Amino acid sequence: MRKLLRVNLSNGAIKGEDIPQKIATDYVGGRGIGSKYLYDEVPAGTDPLGKQNKLLIGTGLLAGTSAQSLSKWVVVTKSPLTGTIIRSYGGGDFGAWLKWSGIELMIFEGKAAKPSYLHIKDGKYEILDAKDIWGKTVNQTQEYLSKKYGAKARMICVGPAAEKMVRYAGIFSGWRTAARGGTGTVMASKNLKAVVIEADRTNELANQAKFSELLKEQVKGYKAGMGFEPFRDYGTPMGVDFPGFAIGCFPVRNFRSNDLEGWDKLSFMNYAAITQKHSGCYACMLKCGKSHTVAEGPYAGVTSEEGPHYETIWAFSGSTGCTDLGATVMADRMCGELGLDTISTGNSIGFAYELFEKGILTTKNTDGLVLKYGDPEPMLKLIEKIGRREGLGDILAEGVKRAAERIGKGSEEYAMHAKGLEMPGYEPRAMKALGMHFALNNAGANHCYGYASQEMGSPTPRLLDAAADEGKGDVIKYNQDHVAALELVNACVFPANNLELFGLELIADMLVAALGETKFGSADYLWHVGEKVYNLERCFNIRDGFSRKDDTLPRRMYTEPLQGGLRDGEVIRKPDVIIDEYYEARGWDKNGIPTEATLKRLGLNELDRDIAKFRR
Ligand code: SF4
Repeated sequence: MRKLLRVNLSNGAIKGEDIPQKIATDYVGGRGIGSKYLYDEVPAGTDPLGKQNKLLIGTGLLAGTSAQSLSKWVVVTKSPLTGTIIRSYGGGDFGAWLKWSGIELMIFEGKAAKPSYLHIKDGKYEILDAKDIWGKTVNQTQEYLSKKYGAKARMICVGPAAEKMVRYAGIFSGWRTAARGGTGTVMASKNLKAVVIEADRTNELANQAKFSELLKEQVKGYKAGMGFEPFRDYGTPMGVDFPGFAIGCFPVRNFRSNDLEGWDKLSFMNYAAITQKHSGCYACMLKCGKSHTVAEGPYAGVTSEEGPHYETIWAFSGSTGCTDLGATVMADRMCGELGLDTISTGNSIGFAYELFEKGILTTKNTDGLVLKYGDPEPMLKLIEKIGRREGLGDILAEGVKRAAERIGKGSEEYAMHAKGLEMPGYEPRAMKALGMHFALNNAGANHCYGYASQEMGSPTPRLLDAAADEGKGDVIKYNQDHVAALELVNACVFPANNLELFGLELIADMLVAALGETKFGSADYLWHVGEKVYNLERCFNIRDGFSRKDDTLPRRMYTEPLQGGLRDGEVIRKPDVIIDEYYEARGWDKNGIPTEATLKRLGLNELDRDIAKFRR
């Protein structure tokens, strides 16, 4: 039987449970099992930062093996930013260690009376006092725990931002993070600072010979893949050049333009020039983490481990109109120490810069900071203020949706989010399938849930004209279901989805070889379960009152023409057409509620009792 660990932080009770066979086969694993448990155990109306919310952290069915890029860990919870179900993935080694500990999923409930951490070793579980690490940065916390438990230990933890209830704090393992949606905030709301696992490598595979054969096939596929070498050598900073400025989708000055004078200072080649080392997650030859040390200028000597990645570069340049590469490295380092999601942090600061330009914020509101485009210094000061919830940082720590509600004066026009999640570094008007995915996605503006590579040249299932205003709904669904299927095994979306280095067929074969579970041996089955999980997540949100009214983007996307770049003058002209196409492809009604027939087709009949009343 597959095992989960239930940890009640309120009363200290810890117990192992078998994952029932029906759930294990019907939901496969990873995001699938996590979403199923959250749906069943966290009812509508639950406060994301209250004791009743639960924090689920799971590993993948192939984690800890040599299978490439399949050892990530997933967090599933109700988001304090969006109020929706979210899943967020973290890398590093922790997924492998969790697997070797014999636990597939940890469910944290309640709230500890004082700051605590969980220690796991040899089938023993202890909740320990975290007084020595509470208040410490991510790096200080991990150094302390590594020294205490030695080289065989791996851990996840939160930083000071989570402790201060910044709504977009992440959970960290090394310098990798499950960043989006406030996973770390939920963890800290339970007074849980860290989880430490001491474990030895174990690998019991049903058919080792077959698994080795499949692994060879996977590695061969990686080496033959067109994107493999550039991605390994340069990593995600390549996104600045392509698609960023090449197709005009790099958002500048709070999603107003694609014009950033001197943007070439942020070209991936300049990050490559200061790369110190390449590092990756457990069993991943792509090693997309690049450590950078700034060579010159005011931030000379600053190092950011495993970053900045593309999104972070964008968040601390495009948002504030800065082209200082050193400042992006510095900002990444600061967010890593404070434990912040870089996308939401940078987006929130870009929002503040625009409010300052418009006169809605003045130096009276910013503790004297002059938020001037092109100047990175106030940006760096605001990162610290957000992480510590000081001054304006206390308001921005709420996320742009809530911050706009507090600031008023029309500031909601400048809050760039979908369902409360800050938009990432892709301009919706320049890539409309990706843009409308932000609107439609269950967890708001998260590109990883359904990256539209068809707008950048991928022919599967078909190429899309990025500027077209219709004919995209079915492809948005395709991308979301594909990612959901891959995430049943916690597959990393970079190689699997974006670079197409391996697919569901290989995963299905590996699952059979590893587990001997023949039901998982078909890509069609994984695809079906992926779609089912996506619908289950939708139903979670519907129970809380989400519907078509929430599937939207900031008004700017529909009314203000994009300025500059290849997509100069674009707006999203027909959002309702794309939404209707999408609902039809999904088998949802006009209000975005799955029909009874759709639930039946997906084996989710029992959810009808929860959502029928919301149908039109
Ligand atoms: S591609 Fe990068 S994020 Fe994905 S598993 Fe490999 S090293 Fe980790």
